Amino acid sequence: MIKRFFSYYKPHKKLFTLDFSSAIVVALLELAFPLAVSWYIDELLPEGNWSSILSVGVGLLLLYVTSTFLQYIVNYWGHKLGINIETDMRGQLFTHVQRQSFSFFDNTKTGHIMSRITNDLFDIGELAHHGPEDLFIAIMTFVGAFWIMLTINVKLAIIVIFIVPILVWLITYCNRSMNKAWGQMYGDIADVNARVEDSVSGVRVVQSFTNEEYEISRFTVNNRRFRKAKIGAYKVMSITSSSVYMLMRFFTLVVLVFGAWLTFNEQMKIGELVSFILFVNILQKPIDKISAILELYPKGMAGFKRFLDLLDSEPKILDRKDAIEINSLNGDIALADVTFSYDSNPVLTNINLSINAGETIAFVGPSGAGKTTICSLIPRFYDVNSGSIKIDGIDIRDMTMKSLRSQIGIVQQDVFLFTGTLKENIAYGNLNATDEEIHEAVRRAHLEDLVLKLPDGYETQIGERGLKLSGGQKQRIAIARMFLKNPPILILDEATSALDTETELIIQNSLNELAKNRTTLIIAHRLATIRNADRIVVVTENGIEEEGKHDELLERNGIFANLHRVQYQR
Ligand code: ADP
Ligand code: MG
Repeated sequence: MIKRFFSYYKPHKKLFTLDFSSAIVVALLELAFPLAVSWYIDELLPEGNWSSILSVGVGLLLLYVTSTFLQYIVNYWGHKLGINIETDMRGQLFTHVQRQSFSFFDNTKTGHIMSRITNDLFDIGELAHHGPEDLFIAIMTFVGAFWIMLTINVKLAIIVIFIVPILVWLITYCNRSMNKAWGQMYGDIADVNARVEDSVSGVRVVQSFTNEEYEISRFTVNNRRFRKAKIGAYKVMSITSSSVYMLMRFFTLVVLVFGAWLTFNEQMKIGELVSFILFVNILQKPIDKISAILELYPKGMAGFKRFLDLLDSEPKILDRKDAIEINSLNGDIALADVTFSYDSNPVLTNINLSINAGETIAFVGPSGAGKTTICSLIPRFYDVNSGSIKIDGIDIRDMTMKSLRSQIGIVQQDVFLFTGTLKENIAYGNLNATDEEIHEAVRRAHLEDLVLKLPDGYETQIGERGLKLSGGQKQRIAIARMFLKNPPILILDEATSALDTETELIIQNSLNELAKNRTTLIIAHRLATIRNADRIVVVTENGIEEEGKHDELLERNGIFANLHRVQYQR
């Protein structure tokens, strides 16, 4: 896992080198400073030579400027490195999710995917920047400072050996409770998010049941829990930093007293004592850094692991290596012995059906019989368990998915509109469409009235999920998309079922025009809309039970005739 983590540094080698080497120089300068002070006090001051003191001042100024500048580089470019890596990962994951099969989305919560792509990667950038760099610098500073302290005064340095384990123990102990506290907090904020998402997307249901109070009280519970967790985390954090601070002051005091005793006995110079105390302060830095890494590492790596889990889940449906690109299909469809189940829920068994190019075929039958499922298999949203589906005699698994799907258009009951303008939503059918083509599609979908009526015409924002439009208008946008896409095969899955009869009749005209010269599969609820189909297929739990023209099926007096009777009884 670590190896894979480091592989993300590769595209940013230069940035990493710049950041890392600057950080090393900053650390070295930091170590040099107390030595300069000791030399200043013990050698320079007794000389009493102003000009050399001034030149030392200039030298120190240069040292400060350099170190400040390098610190800027480390801060800015280092964080840039981290954010670059985080962005790469996020982009990679989004791309990966786009490639996933339908079955993946059937089994994964939207909120879950969202948190993987956003929250879970928040700490990665920080870890990518601070992890390797700070660890290296901390060890280098620590060893360097300790080594210098040994050369200054061995006796005093030995005290350090006693204090360090206490400090490390204290920090790791506090860290452990801090990790737990932060973990709790992340969990609780995820719950808060989930609650908000739920209530806001379901706000119409909430308000129609006047259940606002109920929602608010549920939210309050989560909100308070989050507050408690966060306060808890800050409490642990404050206790940690206070205790470390106190321990360090105590330690400085011990060094001061014992150091004073050493200077009295002329075992140490005053300048050396001052620089020693400065080194004690420097020692605190690597310890802080390591403790910060100890906090960051589990957080970042937990996110990285979740990232990899999702990244490594291969899409169930992939192109074959030698898959062929198809350009224009006629639209002959043949299902041969098709058997299919969702996970372990068998839906279709040995379905056989041939559809001729240009034919309009209607599927009717009770809900849950598998009509939508049959239609989902044709664009390979799912793969058959056994049997085969061929279009123009070619198995769809031998075609590239992109080219197969470019030949199939689907209009469903729920039209999904994206946040954006009317034009953008229509052009979704063909991103390369010209303005003329879009206008032509609008004309053929009988959408001109809407364009005229909207305040900004084509450029009108049609709101999140198109809530500002009626069902009939949305359906016409879907139809306009199809005119732009212009596929030889068309699937209309209860496209008009949610509309009132009057609107349905109007839309039906657009649909009829759309269906012209295409192989069209219609799933319909109202039998009146499929009267003119070339063939009607009755699907039940037992598979395809009847097949024929409208009037033939009525005459046969079977399932279809029965359905018909029920619908027209009133
Ligand atoms: P129809 O379109 O005829 O109403 P469907 O094809 O939608 O029927 O559904 C057929 C059966 O498959 C139903 O029992 C349904 O519960 C099940 N089903 C549909 N979609 C899924 C899915 N994504 N995951 C699991 N089971 C599903
Ligand atoms: Mg259906």
